[in-house]
Amino acid sequence: MKNIIVQKFGGTSVADTEKIKNVARAVIREKNLGHNVVVVVSAMGHTTDMLLKLARDITPNPSLRETDMLLSTGEGVSIALLAMALQAQGCDAVSMNAMQVGIITEKVHTKARILEIKTDKINKYLEEGKVVVIAGFQGITEDLEITTLGRGGSDTSAVALAGALNAERCDIYTDVEGVYTTDPRIVPCASKLKQISYEEMMELAFGGANVLHPRAVETAKVHKTPVRVRSTFKLDDSGTLILGVDEMEIQKPVTGVASDLKQVRIVVCDVKDNPGTAALLFDRLAQENISVDMIIQSYARKDLHTNDIAFTIDKEDVDKTMSVLELIKGDLEYSRALVDEKIAKISIVGAGMVGRPGIAAKMFRTLANLGINIKMIATSDIKISCLVDKDKSNDAVSALHTVFGLDSNEIAEVKGDLPNI
Ligand code: ADP
Ligand code: ASP
Ligand code: MG
Repeated sequence: MKNIIVQKFGGTSVADTEKIKNVARAVIREKNLGHNVVVVVSAMGHTTDMLLKLARDITPNPSLRETDMLLSTGEGVSIALLAMALQAQGCDAVSMNAMQVGIITEKVHTKARILEIKTDKINKYLEEGKVVVIAGFQGITEDLEITTLGRGGSDTSAVALAGALNAERCDIYTDVEGVYTTDPRIVPCASKLKQISYEEMMELAFGGANVLHPRAVETAKVHKTPVRVRSTFKLDDSGTLILGVDEMEIQKPVTGVASDLKQVRIVVCDVKDNPGTAALLFDRLAQENISVDMIIQSYARKDLHTNDIAFTIDKEDVDKTMSVLELIKGDLEYSRALVDEKIAKISIVGAGMVGRPGIAAKMFRTLANLGINIKMIATSDIKISCLVDKDKSNDAVSALHTVFGLDSNEIAEVKGDLPNI
């Protein structure tokens, strides 16, 4: 099937029935331009947060399988309502959940990766002239277990569908007008970017810029799918186009600043300084599907034959991580494991920093001038991240945004509320 556009609408865009009718109008507009339209929707408003709260009211540690069973219901509501809204406006439409489509994932509850998407039924409906409305965020394993893709995962559903269907473009409609130089909720004078490369967007997303799910950007890069982030509430605005770095004109050394407040630092003290200790620790964490981000191993204390290993993980993996550490205490012979929850990871990202010395020094000097202590540092060729105290996070982002020349004279418009959980 040719001429396919995938449109994805986030929670704020479908927060109530009036907004769903508005989304239906945006879909029909795209269809009237002559496209075959596949729509991916998130759960309405803060539904996913509300469902998680219900689970936590029942038990502090709900099973992951039942969590997926519960969370997947949110998107089920939106697809049916949007299909009804389209039909009511005279547009032939059909809703499909992940099981009906065949969005096959690995069997990892609450953060599954998509393995394969079956396209035959979608293509059949498109050939019949229907708009196909598909539930984001959810998947299904080979043995018909329901999974979800992690918070914000509807973006990944949309981009993966665009890749599988060989779509012309994937449009991510949200509550801001595109990708900004930083979160406009933190820095209202953030500048909207006309374009950004997959690589930079990936670093920003992994750095905590939740305007796009990190795996959505990874998937777009693999399939070379052009992705446009745009506003549901300002349909004529062209938003931000995400494309290959070779198609970009690089100007400033830093393109954007991101902050991630969802990580926790674990410090394992006085670990035996032997070959294989780090391998054992990180193997065991990987077996439990715990992703590790920053890692630092301190200089070995030769006399004691020990060193410290510090690493960061997602907040939600702390209990699992501490259980793993307890199990391998005998092998690592560490003295204690500390959990530091009051941290934020601040990242500056830019393809233009390659081959320009002094960017890291400028970042560290800016933080030092604010009296902010750096707890860990990690770099890639287009990113520098520093771990700092959580309560200094917004000050750090604003100062770095200014110092790297990213402030704009305009105030960004943000439509949605912050999740209250
Ligand atoms: P949706 O429900 O549509 O998926 P999200 O809340 O997941 O929306 O993502 C949009 C939000 O991402 C914005 O409201 C904004 O606060 C946040 N955000 C963080 N970093 C950025 C950035 N660099 N550019 C734009 N928005 C950003
Ligand atoms: N509804 C899910 C969430 O709130 C998925 C998404 O919106 O992308 O995380
Ligand atoms: Mg989102």
